[in-house]
Amino acid sequence: MRKVYVVGFDGATWRFIRPLVERGEMPHFQRLMADGVSGTLTSVIPFQSAAAWVTFMTGKNSGKHGVYMFQDYDAVSYTFAGRTANSRYFSGQTMFDIVGQMGGTVSAVRVPLTYPAWPVNGVMVSGFPTPGDTPESFYPPELRTEVGSTAQPDEDPDFRQLTVEQQVASLENQMSRMSTLVSGMIGGQHDLFVVVHRVPDPVHHFFMKFVDPRTPAYDPDLTPRWGDLVNRFYRKMDDALGETLAAIDDDDTLFVISDHGGAITPPRQFNVNVWLAGQGLLTPHQKTSSRRERMYALNQQLLPSRVRSLLRRHAPKAVRGELRQMWQGLQRIEFGRSQAYHFPMKCSPLAGIVINVRGRQPEGVVPPEEYEALRDRIIRDIQGVQDPRTGERIVLRVYKREELYDGPFVERAPDIIVWCQDLYREGPFAQGPMVSDVPFDELQQVSGAHDDQGIMLARGPQLAKGKTVSDAKLIDMTPTILHAMELPVPSDMDGRVLTEIFADPDRAVESIELDLSKKTADSYLSEDEEQLIKDKLKGWGYL
Ligand SMILES: [Zn+2]
Repeated sequence: MRKVYVVGFDGATWRFIRPLVERGEMPHFQRLMADGVSGTLTSVIPFQSAAAWVTFMTGKNSGKHGVYMFQDYDAVSYTFAGRTANSRYFSGQTMFDIVGQMGGTVSAVRVPLTYPAWPVNGVMVSGFPTPGDTPESFYPPELRTEVGSTAQPDEDPDFRQLTVEQQVASLENQMSRMSTLVSGMIGGQHDLFVVVHRVPDPVHHFFMKFVDPRTPAYDPDLTPRWGDLVNRFYRKMDDALGETLAAIDDDDTLFVISDHGGAITPPRQFNVNVWLAGQGLLTPHQKTSSRRERMYALNQQLLPSRVRSLLRRHAPKAVRGELRQMWQGLQRIEFGRSQAYHFPMKCSPLAGIVINVRGRQPEGVVPPEEYEALRDRIIRDIQGVQDPRTGERIVLRVYKREELYDGPFVERAPDIIVWCQDLYREGPFAQGPMVSDVPFDELQQVSGAHDDQGIMLARGPQLAKGKTVSDAKLIDMTPTILHAMELPVPSDMDGRVLTEIFADPDRAVESIELDLSKKTADSYLSEDEEQLIKDKLKGWGYL
């Protein structure tokens, strides 16, 4: 078995790395590009950390592992308010379990969606999101006393409410804690070592407004002060990579990857339910809106985010639930009179659509035998939708869910997945204009989002040198890592071995049937843990 190291940078994108490498400001990345292979790593759909990292760990699509988002996708419930995803969904199926099964030892350090930690042949420190460093954050639990003091990088209660200076300090603190954690663990016993640094992702979400003039939140007056901020964190990433390179042997195999890329938060929203209503497929609530709804709409438009957030936090629980539903536009739909409705995928620029099928949903109206025809009609018609204000095409492409997913959990996904052009994201409204502007303070608060273009670099004695690859996907990483370790690849994986990155692309891929105990994807956390994690996800702008 060959030793392999994997360093993940959540959300890292070539868009920022390439110019810095060209200017010699990311020397370790530059060296890896010269010594090994590099290229784009295409993410999954939705290109969000939860689905992406679980796909990375399992080599399987969301239809098989069940995770689409930090919260459950449940296309047929009408509330979409699922429990938060966690490691109990998919334990028994990751690269850590497979390597352990084959007699190898593993260290998994802060890989997202590994909370609660589970028994592996080695050690595990859970990654984002966790309710804090509880005993369940570590395997074995005793590991907590060794590394616990260095392992709390995501503790800020509501990151969105911090000043830029405080955000910078918090992220720098995360990076230095990670550096201490990695240096304490990288020298241990392991055949497979995987660490994920979370920092590039919040850097994009919160600082994109300082570098990308395409977002309305961009303010050129702030460039002298903050224009270098994103690059500063990328240079720190390069330092982190340098520390790892210094700690491993030159002939150890190393992969550097990200789970998706970064983009601006789209400034316009496509209110899919308004479009569906226009097609005669959805009936908005006929009742005049309640005073509370009008207040909500008003505060959405006018109040600074800080005040809104305070209102939300201090409102009684029942009102909070109602506010959330209003955001989703649900109270404005009469489900019993709607054939299809928007499913929020929470991954701009994606939007889901669900057919309201009789017998499947509580108020389903579409006879099952008409499902396919209606789905085909919606897919055909939505492709041509134009922004009435500019005439621009809104939709880039449309999928049926079974074109993207395969396995027992396909049913969780919406029936149709719409991918909008860069400048559009899904909008929450069922009435009013079909396209509206995303409220300015929302853009200012979270100015960055994701795209599907991650990064991949790899170096090792059995890998090609100085080669660029163009067809690598995140889902290919588990089989590729196993092959690089000279281990067989389980036959039920969806990804392929990236044979083109090896110096000997013809080395046969060994396949194996593995019968690892599978848990069903319905295991949840306690209510308290769940609430802590949800609060944290909200604080980072993920829910
Ligand atoms: Zn991510």
